[in-house]
Amino acid sequence: MSERRTFVIVGAGFAGARAAITLRAEGFDGRVLLLGDEPVRPYDRVTLSKHYLYGKPGLHSLFVHDETFYAAHNIELRVSTPVVAVDVGAWQVELASGERIGYDALLLTTGCEPRRWAGPGSGLGGVHYLRTLADADRLRAALVAAAAHSGRLVVVGTGWIGCEIAAAARELGIDVALVGRSSVPLEHQLGARMAGFYRDLHAEHGVELYGGREVTELRGQGSVRAVVLSDGTVLPADVVVFGIGARPRVGLARAAGLTVDNGIMTDAQFATSAPRVFAAGDVANVWNGAQGRRTRLEHWAAALRQGPAAARAMLGDRHPYSQIPFFFTDQYDVWMEFTGETAGADEFVTRTLPGDRAFIAFWLRGGRLAAGMNVNIKGIPDLVGALISGGRRINARALADPDIPLADTVLSY
Ligand SMILES: Cc1cc2nc3c(=O)[nH]c(=O)nc-3n(C[C@H](O)[C@H](O)[C@H](O)COP(=O)(O)OP(=O)(O)OC[C@H]3O[C@@H](n4cnc5c(N)ncnc54)[C@H](O)[C@@H]3O)c2cc1C
Repeated sequence: MSERRTFVIVGAGFAGARAAITLRAEGFDGRVLLLGDEPVRPYDRVTLSKHYLYGKPGLHSLFVHDETFYAAHNIELRVSTPVVAVDVGAWQVELASGERIGYDALLLTTGCEPRRWAGPGSGLGGVHYLRTLADADRLRAALVAAAAHSGRLVVVGTGWIGCEIAAAARELGIDVALVGRSSVPLEHQLGARMAGFYRDLHAEHGVELYGGREVTELRGQGSVRAVVLSDGTVLPADVVVFGIGARPRVGLARAAGLTVDNGIMTDAQFATSAPRVFAAGDVANVWNGAQGRRTRLEHWAAALRQGPAAARAMLGDRHPYSQIPFFFTDQYDVWMEFTGETAGADEFVTRTLPGDRAFIAFWLRGGRLAAGMNVNIKGIPDLVGALISGGRRINARALADPDIPLADTVLSY
């Protein structure tokens, strides 16, 4: 029967591509359509704020698969193909061209879009956002030009993307000012102590930090020349990048009548409120057994795991999704991986390791491990994940001791 079925995936990003290939890997021999509105085949966004900007080869290759891959696996990839409507009653999607395609199951992996700053001067040239490959190409060209003419960059937003762009621009030798609402970069994401590590890292690399401030105005004629902050500071600027967060692209889902609340709501099998319609990746607010609640994560690892898991759910798999959150970042010579969640943590321990800035930070909640952050040391997340999901009491003193294997930090009572 399966050869008669048509599975449609809307959103040819990382989660969508991973879902499509999983359908084939699981033996589905019906039609697989992967529909994307961007003009290129699926790629991995993570390098766009890092190596891609300063022109060095990335740790991750840009494209998820090579050009011939989709045809070779009988996946009908259609790029430059925006889907404009989903008709859940007729089991069809509608393309911008007016073409309607029927589905037996539909997966929405429409991702996120950047939040836009709409204050005075927001329409000036030289103002950038970063989500797509096209955005990255524009930003890279602007940064290369700035590097050649001693231009200045102002990055607005001290989350992951803002910090990574600041680091990439310093690699190009550009003067960078980093502006954020929180007093320290990444404070909201990591808490004061570990945020302090990143503050010092950026300061050491010559980034000027303007914490606790907002942008009130961009000045210039045609192109931006200055950024005005809430305390009256005026920063000269040739290029401005806003990295002030992202919004899930829920327009299609909402118009189709799906339940949306901070993303498309799904159960632990990625099923939305409409029959045979699934959602995964950045756009989805998924029930996660490991967290005991719904969460919407804008993390590479969530797309990596959820795309395939949603594909299996489309094929009838009933395994509930259960994954400890994981993400990574790469700034200057500091590679960092983060496993778990710090919410409610009441104890903090660090383990210093041999090597340049190599350490692991641990957050405990009620004597049990809640999160671990390994810096400049690899091979840790699986161990940390096992300790978190094991849920056993941990000897915090042993966690701090680099001579005690992590697996031996579990208490026997
Ligand atoms: C610059 C940058 C750096 C990042 N770095 C890191 C990092 O270091 N570590 C980390 O853990 N995570 C990182 N992330 C996050 C990670 O890239 C995302 O979590 C991941 O891309 C999510 O994949 P996705 O497939 O859910 O969504 P997306 O990658 O956004 O893909 C969604 C696709 O759907 C398309 N689409 C939307 N609506 C429609 C429609 N109606 N019709 C057709 N197509 C549509 C979109 O154009 C897009 O191509 C980064 C993200 C960015 C932007």
